[in-house]
Amino acid sequence: MKFDVVIVGGGITGAGLARDCALRGLKTLVLDKALPGRATTAASSHLIHGGLRYLLYDRLTTHTTAWDAGNIIRVAPDLVTRLPILWPVYKSHLHGIETVETLLEAYDGFQRMKGGLSHLRLGPSAVGELLPAIATGGLVGALSFDEWWVDAVGLVEKNLEAARRDGAELRTGTEVVELLRGPGGKVRGVRTRREDALEEIEADIVVNAAGPWVDRVAALAGVSIPLRLRKGTHLVYDKPLTPIGLLLEAVDGKRHIFVLPHAGGTLVGPTDLEHTGTPETLRSDEDECRYLVDSVRRYLPDFPENYSSTRVGARPILGQAVAEKLLSREYQVLNHAERDGVDGFVSIAGGKMSDFRLMAKDTVDEVCRKLGRGDDCASHRIRLDGQPVTSIPHFERPWRPLKKFLRHHPRLRELHALAYLGAGFGTHVLRRLAGGGAVSDAAAFREHYGA
Ligand SMILES: Cc1cc2nc3c(=O)[nH]c(=O)nc-3n(C[C@H](O)[C@H](O)[C@H](O)COP(=O)(O)OP(=O)(O)OC[C@H]3O[C@@H](n4cnc5c(N)ncnc54)[C@H](O)[C@@H]3O)c2cc1C
Repeated sequence: MKFDVVIVGGGITGAGLARDCALRGLKTLVLDKALPGRATTAASSHLIHGGLRYLLYDRLTTHTTAWDAGNIIRVAPDLVTRLPILWPVYKSHLHGIETVETLLEAYDGFQRMKGGLSHLRLGPSAVGELLPAIATGGLVGALSFDEWWVDAVGLVEKNLEAARRDGAELRTGTEVVELLRGPGGKVRGVRTRREDALEEIEADIVVNAAGPWVDRVAALAGVSIPLRLRKGTHLVYDKPLTPIGLLLEAVDGKRHIFVLPHAGGTLVGPTDLEHTGTPETLRSDEDECRYLVDSVRRYLPDFPENYSSTRVGARPILGQAVAEKLLSREYQVLNHAERDGVDGFVSIAGGKMSDFRLMAKDTVDEVCRKLGRGDDCASHRIRLDGQPVTSIPHFERPWRPLKKFLRHHPRLRELHALAYLGAGFGTHVLRRLAGGGAVSDAAAFREHYGA
């Protein structure tokens, strides 16, 4: 049997692609060598977010991600829960609470796109009331914001379920081991291995959505995708240890980590370390776990040292010749016919779970262009349960030429982000000097977030 599209990988990227292809009437097959969603997607922090941190160096990625996060929460309302997160700021903070609030003010503009609420500023006593276990020595106050907690594996499964309802097929435990080539080297399908059985499957287009294995699948076609794998570990506690989310500066002062309520328990992490091996060699090491425990106990001295388990994954970040702090989380659709002279083969690399729907849309747009058929994208108009989305607010996406230009100029991309923050800081200071800027109490926090 011949398919229009064969998708390699059934994580959130492949699952989103499958639903989008099926909605557009393309005969689609998804192949996963293991179980869908159980690799990087399951190892994530389970947040549909806009990317607060990217505002420091890559504002347009925050814009894109927040824009698509809005679509995701509208199509998967049953899988997401609003999660208020508190960011306590101490006297020792390098830049001070006014700078942190400026960042949150900048984020407020993007929060609207994803149904988020504007931030609040809290005084030390409100923080103590909301979190009696927190260390209050040197505490200046806290800022709060909200993200969406998501059942990540459920999101994959529901996308695949919807794709199958529209005619797509899924084969698990089926590894793509070779790409079949036709005249002129065109990719004409895949050879798979399931247990010991090999099989050939024909397709007009093969889409490589293999997450941290995307470079390996590309290598089957003789093409190279530069990837920078960044290892991330979470500690999993099976007890609920915090009523709200926390964003804490880690012990080395170099990054922030989350403490999140998670499926009846608690998630602490993630770390962010260069991984030079393959995804199969990923392991959480003792130093990483110690780093996470020490970082939390600095603020919550009674937080238990013993966790139930760890989860580790590798962020599949597109290779870029920049320092770690400037690594963009942007995604790219790679049309290998134009890029490498290999027709019939498209890869999608980089990105986040929080913009998987847009990653799928842009990829399937490319696939439809190549096939010369396929309906318009409908994945933002139809919920995963098949019901229509009733209302879609209009927000502009970032201006594509600027995004493309900044992709090639990371220093300018950082300056672009910092220019906005600098202007925001000026406005913030003037407002504070004029007596503006409310400080909320614990009751106002609870009312704001319905917590
Ligand atoms: C620690 C950490 C925290 C994160 N937190 C967040 C977060 O809170 N929010 C967010 O938006 N993003 C987050 N991310 C990023 C996000 O998790 C990833 O961008 C996303 O899950 C990648 O999904 P994927 O489908 O591309 O890859 P994966 O989920 O890894 O799926 C790839 C699939 O391809 C299959 N595969 C590979 N090779 C083959 C082959 N040859 N044949 C068949 N199948 C194959 C694998 O079995 C796997 O199932 C986080 C990442 C990490 C590591």
